[in-house]
Amino acid sequence: MVWRVRLRRYPLFATMLNCHCRDCQRATGTAYAAAFAIFPKSAVSLKGKPCWYRVIGSSGKPIERGFCGNPMTVRLDVAPDIIGFHAASLDGPARYKPAVDLFTASAHPWDLMQADTIKKAGGLAS
Ligand SMILES: [Zn+2]
Repeated sequence: MVWRVRLRRYPLFATMLNCHCRDCQRATGTAYAAAFAIFPKSAVSLKGKPCWYRVIGSSGKPIERGFCGNPMTVRLDVAPDIIGFHAASLDGPARYKPAVDLFTASAHPWDLMQADTIKKAGGLAS
């Protein structure tokens, strides 16, 4: 089944970010997760039934990742009203332009970051 994601209304907050935390590295199998974060998650409607799996993130709080044949979305207990989508799951992934790099303290020496993004050693609140 193919997922469909639609905005029901304009969100209060949306940003494009690259997350370099260890959990995103494991989930994507590479240096970071390129994601689009939306607040509040009620601004989004999801059509389809993903398979969810739950892990404990770097914060010590659970993270749920949704798959529909490939990694697509993420929900965080530490930020329960935010939902994230992997950039490559969007219909127009070429329009993805990250504004922030998160958890740069977990980035590997071979991980290249764009010069014009805000760098945060931890999460959005760091
Ligand atoms: Zn992450």
